[in-house]
Amino acid sequence: MTADLDTETQRPIVVASNRLPFTFERTAEGLQRRPSSGGLVTALDPILRKRGGHWIGWPGIEMKPGEQLPSAREPYSITPVQLSAAESERFYEGFSNGTLWPLMHSMPTRARFHREDWEVYGQINERFGEVVAQQALDAGLVWIHDYQLMLAPAHVRRLLPDVRLAFFLHIPFPPYDVFRLLPWDREFLRALLTCDLIGFHVRSYAHNFLDCVQRILGARVRRQEMIVEYGDRTTRVGAFPLGIEFDTFESLAMAAPRTATAEAGATVLGVDRLDYTKGIPERIYAFERLLENYPEHHEQVVLFQIAVPSRSQVEEYRELKSEIDELVGRVNGRFATATWSPIRYLYRSVTRQQLAGLYRDARVGLITPIRDGMNLVAKEFVACQVGEPGVLILSSLAGASDTMREALLVNPYDIDGSAEAIHRALTMEEEERRSRVVALRRRERRDDLDSWVASFTKAASATQPTIAPITDSDFEGWLSDYMEGYRLSLFLDYDGTLAPLCDHPSNAILSDSVHHTLKTCAERPDTEVAVVSGRSLSDVRKMVDLETVTLAGNHGLEIEGPRFSTFVHQDLIHYRERANQLARDLESLGVNGAWTEAKGPTLTYHYRSVPEDSREQLVKQAHTIISRAGYQPRDAHAAVEARPPIGWDKGRAVLHILRERYGPSWSEEVRVIYVGDDQTDEDAFRFLAGLAQTFRVGSADTATAATRRLPNVAAVHALLDWLSRRPLT
Ligand code: UDP
Repeated sequence: MTADLDTETQRPIVVASNRLPFTFERTAEGLQRRPSSGGLVTALDPILRKRGGHWIGWPGIEMKPGEQLPSAREPYSITPVQLSAAESERFYEGFSNGTLWPLMHSMPTRARFHREDWEVYGQINERFGEVVAQQALDAGLVWIHDYQLMLAPAHVRRLLPDVRLAFFLHIPFPPYDVFRLLPWDREFLRALLTCDLIGFHVRSYAHNFLDCVQRILGARVRRQEMIVEYGDRTTRVGAFPLGIEFDTFESLAMAAPRTATAEAGATVLGVDRLDYTKGIPERIYAFERLLENYPEHHEQVVLFQIAVPSRSQVEEYRELKSEIDELVGRVNGRFATATWSPIRYLYRSVTRQQLAGLYRDARVGLITPIRDGMNLVAKEFVACQVGEPGVLILSSLAGASDTMREALLVNPYDIDGSAEAIHRALTMEEEERRSRVVALRRRERRDDLDSWVASFTKAASATQPTIAPITDSDFEGWLSDYMEGYRLSLFLDYDGTLAPLCDHPSNAILSDSVHHTLKTCAERPDTEVAVVSGRSLSDVRKMVDLETVTLAGNHGLEIEGPRFSTFVHQDLIHYRERANQLARDLESLGVNGAWTEAKGPTLTYHYRSVPEDSREQLVKQAHTIISRAGYQPRDAHAAVEARPPIGWDKGRAVLHILRERYGPSWSEEVRVIYVGDDQTDEDAFRFLAGLAQTFRVGSADTATAATRRLPNVAAVHALLDWLSRRPLT
C-alpha cells in the first residue's frame, strides 16, 4: 500500500443510505430518536466511530420548518436529507419500490415505469449526492448504499472528481435481459461506473452487472480481474457476501428462555417481511403437500410463519396479505384437529430475543424466497443453533445459497421438491443435522458482519487499476465483422481525439507517429479519411497537413478534400459581419486568461486558464452574450462555442461527405467509423446511430450516444494503427 493510501484509510468515512441509523418520532417534546435495529447500522457504527465521519440519510419523517433533529451522541455527524411527502411518494414508493425493487428481483411484470417517478428519483439522488459531496471534502472514503441511491455516485463524482467512491447493492442485480427493460438502463450503469468499487452480495450479480455494462454501454470488461474500463475510468467490481452479527445472535440464543413452540412438537419456522419476493404462498403450498403426502406428520409438526408487516400502504402488499390469510385458513381448515392446527401465523414483528429463541427451538428453518439478494434470516437461524441441531432448508434463489452449501437447497417453485425436502429435514438423523450445522456455523462465524465491513473497505482502498492498453484483439472483436468486405470511411475529430487537449489550440500538434499512421490510412485504396473539427478550415488544414484527407472546418460549415467539390454553407454569408461584432462583444470577457478565437463564421470563447472559482460566472456571461447576438452557445472542453443558428452540425457534415463520395445509397457501399471527444461530436453520434461504429474519447462521466468509448488519444492512435495494418479489402 502506498503512503497516500495509508493516510486515506485513516481519514473520515462518509456513509449514505436511504434511511439514517435512527427512526424519529414526533412527541410533545419534539423529535425523539430510536435506534434502527438493522444490521447495517450495527456494522457501520464501529468504523464511523473509529475514523469519524458522516452518515447521510432520510430521517423517515417529514420535518417541519425550523424543526431540529435531536443532537447526535455519536462521534460522527448525522445529516438528514429532507423529502416532502410528495417526493417520498414518487422517489420511495414509486421508483425505488415500484420500479427498481421488482425489476432487480427479476419480476419485471410487477414493475411500473413512470417518467414522473423517474424524474423525482433523479432529483432526490442529486440532492443526496450534493449533501454527500459537501460532507466529503476530507473523506478517505464515500460509501453509498443500495438501490434507492444508485444515481447518487454520479453527482458525488461530478462535485469531487478525486474522492474515493464505493457503492454496495443490497439486493440482486438481474441478468441483462431483465435489466435492459429499464428505460433508463444506461443512466444507471453510467452512474455506477463513476465509483471506484461496486460491491454485490454474490458473484452472479456481479457477473450480471458486467454483462450489462459490456452489452448496454459497450464498456470494456476484464472478467478475470472483475474490472470495468469505461472511457478514462476503471471500476472494480466484486462479491462481498453480507454477514450477520454472529456472536450476538449466538449469545441471544443461549440466553433466550425456552419457547412455547418447543413444547408444540417439531416446528418448521418461516420468518420474513411480508413481501412478494419471499415466497410465502409457495411455502404454504409446499407444507400442504407435505401433509398430503406424509400423513405421519399430522399432529406432530407445525409450520410457524412470522410475517413482518412491510409496505402495507401499497395495494400489492395488501393483496398478498389477503392471499396468505386465505391460504392459511384453507390449509388449517383442511387438516386441523381438535388439538392441532398445522399452521401458526403471526402478522407482526418480534424482538430479536424472541427471534433467537424461535430459531434455536425450531426443528427446521424453512427459508424459501422466490428471489432474495442475500437473506439474513438463514444466517441468523444457523447462528442460533446452539442446542439440538435444526435443519436449514434454503431457496437456491436466495443469494445466501451461494455460500451456505450445507443447507438443503430447494427451488421454491417446485412444490413437490420442497415438500420432499421438508420431509427429509424432519426425518434427518441427528448426526447429519449436526455435521451440516457445524459447517454452516463455522462459515458464518468467520464471515460475519465485521469481516464484511473490513473486506469491503479494504477493497475500496486498494490502488485503482490502470487501464490496460487497448490491443488489436479488442478492435478485432469490435470491428472485424462489421467491416469485412467493405470500404471504410473514417471520420475523426481533431482536438482531444487526434491531438491531446492543450492550454492553447496552437499547441495541439499532431505527433509524428499519429501523423504517419493517419497518412498510411488515408493512402489505402479502400479507406477515406475525414477530419471534422470545430477549428476554422484553414487552421485544421495547417494542423493535419495531409492532402489525402478530407477536412471539415467550423463544425462542418466548410468542407474541402481530394476528389470533392469544396463546400461552404450557403447561409454563412449572412453571418460574417455578425461574427465580427460578437468577437468584439466577447472581448469584455477577456479576463483571467480567457480569450476569444474568431474562426470566420464561428467563434470559440476559451477559459482553460481561468481559475476554477471564476469560471461559472464567465461561462454564464458568455452564454448570455452569444445568445443575445443571435448565435447558439454550446459548451465544449473549457470553452464555449458560438455557432450561427444554421441547421447544420457535424452530423449533417458527415452525411454531406458520405453522399458526395458514395451517392445516396452510401450505406450499402461503405462502412463508417466516427471518433470524437466532444459535445459537438454527439450530433454525429446521434445521426450515425445504427449506421456506423462510433467512439467517444475521454471522460466516462458525460452521457454519450456513441457505441463505445476510448480512454485517450493513445487509444485512438492504436485504432488508426490497427486500421492501417488490416488486410486490404
Ligand atoms: N427481523 C426483524 N423483526 C422480525 C423478524 C425479523 O427485524 O420480527 C429481521 C431479521 O432478524 C433479519 C431481517 O429482519 O435480520 C430480515 O433480513 P433479510 O435479509 O432476511 O430480508 P429483508 O427483509 O432484508 O428482505
